[in-house]
Amino acid sequence: MEAFLVFFFGAAMGSFLALVIERLPIGESIVVGRSHCTGCGKLLRCWEMVPILSQIALGSKCKRCGVQIPIWYAFFEAAIGVCALWTLSNLTEGILLAMSLTLSIFDQREHAFPFSVWAIFTLILFCIVPFSLSDLTILAFALLASLKNLRIGAGDILWLYSASLVVTQLEIVLILQFAAIGGIIHYLLQKEKGEIAFIPHLTGALGLLLLTRPVWAQILTP
Ligand SMILES: [Zn+2]
Repeated sequence: MEAFLVFFFGAAMGSFLALVIERLPIGESIVVGRSHCTGCGKLLRCWEMVPILSQIALGSKCKRCGVQIPIWYAFFEAAIGVCALWTLSNLTEGILLAMSLTLSIFDQREHAFPFSVWAIFTLILFCIVPFSLSDLTILAFALLASLKNLRIGAGDILWLYSASLVVTQLEIVLILQFAAIGGIIHYLLQKEKGEIAFIPHLTGALGLLLLTRPVWAQILTP
């Protein structure tokens, strides 16, 4: 029962984060204004706002105007639910995963890195992990790259800083290697060669690392 409640709480957080993903790029308030259909603009009723279940019950369509409700909502809500479950065994990893998934969708959809979303998640991590001076160089450079246009992916470095609060330095190197392989495959498969959203690769690499950690611990222990 506890696991179900935690999952449901996570899915509800996922529902809120999906709203942030939708509204932030178009400058809509995430605090004011109730959830509404993007097709007909009608306010959603209580039973239409239950994470995952409403979308299944509605057949992924608005009952009034028939507009399609993006299928990624339900998957995203479920994924954040899983992140919430993850916090039961490791709080900071669950938070890092939730942040990474949210930033991945932003990066994939908008090729953008919402600094405010990163900052809120990272402040939460700050409150949990012991303060370490050694990672501050990464943060300083990432903030410099965010403020000045240094033509490097400032968001990727900000993400690495947050990850460095949660995983070991050796694991950061592994994440970079996994993500680099993902990036190369992505480039090779890309039909029109162009920008590559790298946060989704970093997120996938983080997930892979966390799921296969015992293997790497054995291989890399001298
Ligand atoms: Zn509608």
